[in-house]
Amino acid sequence: MQLATTQPAKNVLEVREYDLFLDVDFAGLKYSGKVTVDLESVGDVSLDAVGLQITNVKSGNRKVPFKHTGKLLKVQTGKFSGPLEIEFTGNVSDNFTGLYKASYGDSYILSTHLEAVQARKVFPCLDHPAFKAVFKVQVRTDESLSVISNMPKESETEEGGDRTVTFQKTPKMSTYLLYLGVGKFVQEKGRHGETDLYAAYADRPTGKINTGFSFEATQKVLDYYESYFGIPFQLPKLHNVAVPEFAYGAMENWGAITYREILLHVDKDTSIRAKKSVAHVIAHEIAHMWFGDLVTMKWWDDLWLNESFATFMDYKSTDRAYPEWKVWQDFVRTSTSGAMGRDSLTKTHPIMAKVHDPEEIEELFDEISYGKGASILRMIEAYIGSENFKRGVAQYLQKFRYSNASGHDLWSSLQEASGTEVSRIMEGWISQEGFPVVKASLAGGKLLLEQERFLLAGGTSNQTWPIPVTMNVDGKTQSFLLDKKKTEVNLPTKPRSLKVNVDQTGFYVVQYDGKELQDLVWKGRLSPLDRWGLINDAKAFLLSGRVSFVEYFSLVEKYQNEEEYLPAIEVSDQLSFLYQIAPSRLIETSRKFHNAGLKIFESKKDDNSTTLKGIVAARLTLLDDAYAKTAGSKFKGLANVEPDMKRSVVMGYARSSDDYDGLIGGYLKSTTDEERLRFLEGLVSFKNPELIARTLDFAVGGKVKRQDVRNVILYATANPDARNVAWEWFKKNMAKLEAMYSGTAQFSIILREYFSIIGVGRAAEVEKFFNEHKVIGADIALERLKIYDQLAKKIIATR
Ligand SMILES: [Zn+2]
Repeated sequence: MQLATTQPAKNVLEVREYDLFLDVDFAGLKYSGKVTVDLESVGDVSLDAVGLQITNVKSGNRKVPFKHTGKLLKVQTGKFSGPLEIEFTGNVSDNFTGLYKASYGDSYILSTHLEAVQARKVFPCLDHPAFKAVFKVQVRTDESLSVISNMPKESETEEGGDRTVTFQKTPKMSTYLLYLGVGKFVQEKGRHGETDLYAAYADRPTGKINTGFSFEATQKVLDYYESYFGIPFQLPKLHNVAVPEFAYGAMENWGAITYREILLHVDKDTSIRAKKSVAHVIAHEIAHMWFGDLVTMKWWDDLWLNESFATFMDYKSTDRAYPEWKVWQDFVRTSTSGAMGRDSLTKTHPIMAKVHDPEEIEELFDEISYGKGASILRMIEAYIGSENFKRGVAQYLQKFRYSNASGHDLWSSLQEASGTEVSRIMEGWISQEGFPVVKASLAGGKLLLEQERFLLAGGTSNQTWPIPVTMNVDGKTQSFLLDKKKTEVNLPTKPRSLKVNVDQTGFYVVQYDGKELQDLVWKGRLSPLDRWGLINDAKAFLLSGRVSFVEYFSLVEKYQNEEEYLPAIEVSDQLSFLYQIAPSRLIETSRKFHNAGLKIFESKKDDNSTTLKGIVAARLTLLDDAYAKTAGSKFKGLANVEPDMKRSVVMGYARSSDDYDGLIGGYLKSTTDEERLRFLEGLVSFKNPELIARTLDFAVGGKVKRQDVRNVILYATANPDARNVAWEWFKKNMAKLEAMYSGTAQFSIILREYFSIIGVGRAAEVEKFFNEHKVIGADIALERLKIYDQLAKKIIATR
C-alpha cells in the first residue's frame, strides 16, 4: 500500500492554478520545464513527481529546500500561500503513459495519457482528482511542429527555429484531464454552435484519416447532450485527436479527446461493425465532457461512476443519432452480459471498490466499472422513469459543476427528482459484489420468486439485493421491489404467458422451475431483448452446471432460423465460444447454425444484418472448409468485396491457401488500421500451426503496432488450431508483453479474457505456470479456465 502517493496530500488545502511551461526537445525525446503552482497549505507541501529530475524550487526569489524521494517531492514551505516555482527535466516515455512517443512508420508524435495517475510523470503536481485547478500551458518546441492542448491558442511566436505556443487558461479541472500533443498534425475544422470542432491526426504520405463521419457523430451527440444535460458544451473548442499508438480506445481529456486512429476513420471501405464503434466511442468520450470533466469523482473509488455513466449515455445518444442500429440490443449483449460474466466469478469486486495504490486503479478499468455500473443505471432508470432520471442527472451536474462529487450525491439527486428510494437500492447494488439469480416457480396458483447469489463455480451466499423486478403476465407489465429472500406474486387463474425481467433491464438472471412455467415463458410475445435474455441466462446456467448440456441445447434449437439480429448474434457468439472450448464436439452443430444464419441474413440489407452476416461468415471459415475455399477464392478481388465481408475472405483465404507471404504482403501494403487488423486476423487463422507461430513472432517484431498485439492474441483465441502454438509463444513472450503494456491494465486483460480459453485442455499446466509466475489477472484467468475446462470435459462426454 502506498497511501501517501495517491491520497490527498495532507497539508494542502487548495491548488488554485498551475502555470506550466515545457521546452520540448522533440528529436532528443526529452524536455525541461517549469511549473508555478499557486496553492495554499497549512504546512510543508508534498507534490507527486515520478521519474522527473527536480532542479530548483523557489518562492519569489527565495530558494526553498526540498527532497525528492523518487515519488514525492517534499518542499519545506511551512504554512504557505502563493506561487511555488519548480524547475525540472523529464524524458519522453517509451510506453503508453505520461508524455509518450506514439510511432507511425519511421515517424512519431508525442502525446499524453495521464489517467489515472500519470500526470505526475510529466510535471510535479497534486495528482488527485479532487485538487481541481486552472491550467495555463505554454510549450516551446521545433517550429516545424504544432502543439495541441485542452484550450485554444492564446498566442504563438516563432523565433530562432523555435515555436512557442501559449494556450488560454482552462476552467478548473483535474490533473488527469490535461492534454498535450506535439508533432506534425493534419488538422481539419468544423463547427457546432459556438464550439469550434477539430479533427487532428499524424501527417503521413498515405493512409490519411478520413474524419467526415467523426464530425457528423460528434455534432449529433453534442446536440443530444446539450439538450439532455441542459448545460452547453463548456469549452470554446473540441479536438478529436487520432493517436497512432494508444493502449486504450480513447481518453476524455477535456477539449482534446484522444482516440486510436481506427476510431476516427470511416471511409467507403470501412465495415459497419467498425463504423458503429466509431460512433459509440465518440459518444462515450463526449459524455465524459460533462460527466467526469465538468463534474469529477472525488476519489478513484468512484471511477465506476464516470465510466458507467459515460457507457450508459453513449448508448442513449447513439440510439438517438442512429436509431436504425437499435443499439440497446448491443448494450445488453456487450455491457450487461460482459459484466455478468465477470461478476459471476468468486474473484470479482463491488462496483464501489476500495482504492489504495496506482496499480489498483488501473485494474478497475474493467467490466464491473463500465458494464455492471452502466447496467445498474439502466435498471434504475427503468424503475424511476426516464424523465425523472434525466431531471435528477441535470440537477446533479448543475449542482457540482467545476467541482467533485460522489455516487451518493447522484443518488440523492435522483431520489429528489423521482420521489423514489433510489439511494437504498443503489447502495445495495454498488456496495456488494456479485448479482442474484431469481428462481421462479409455480405454487398453488401463485408465482414464487426467490433470490440467491449466482456463482459460476457453484455455491452461494447469504446476500440479497433490492431487485426492481419487472414481470409480464398475459401481455401486461408489472413491477415491484424484491428486497427480501423470497416473495409470492398472485397470478390470474389460468395465465397464458409469463416472463420475468422484461426487456432485460434488470441485472439478474432468471431460472424458471418446471416444464409448465417454462412453457408459459415461450407462449407470450417475446421481444428480441427477451429472447436474448432467455438464451443469455441459459449459457450462465450451463457454465454453472445448473442445467445440462442436453437441456441447454434443446433451448438453443429454438433459435434455429432466428431472424432477429440480437438473439441470432448471441447464439452465434455462444456456439463459437463452445466450439473454442470443445471443438471436436461442436464443429458440426456450429457449422449447421452458421450456414443457416448466413442464408437468412444474406437476404437482409439493414446495417445490423450486414454486421451479423460479416461475423457469421468469418466464423464459418473456421468451421467449414468448403465455405473457407469459396470465400477465399475472392481474395484477389478483395478491394471490391463488401466491407463487412472482407474478414471472411481474408480468413477463408488463409485457411484454404497457407499463403503466409501473400497475407504478410497484404498486411504491409495496408493503409488503414482496420485493414491491418483484418490481415493479422487472417494470419492467425491458418490451419497450419507453424504459420501461426510465425505470425505471433512477427507481431512482436516491431512491424505491428504495439497497441494491436493484444488483438492478435484475441484472434488466435478463436482458432482452435492456434491453441498450442499460442500457449508456447505466450510462455516465451510473457515478460515482453508485460513490459510493453506496463502502467496499463492491458496485460491482465490478455490473461483474463484469452488465456482462460487458450488454456482449455491443459488447465493443470497453466495453473502451475502462473503459480511460478505471479502476475495480475492470472487468478481470474485460472478461475475461468477451470470452469471452461470442466464444461469442455462434460460436453465431450455427452452423447
Ligand atoms: Zn470512459
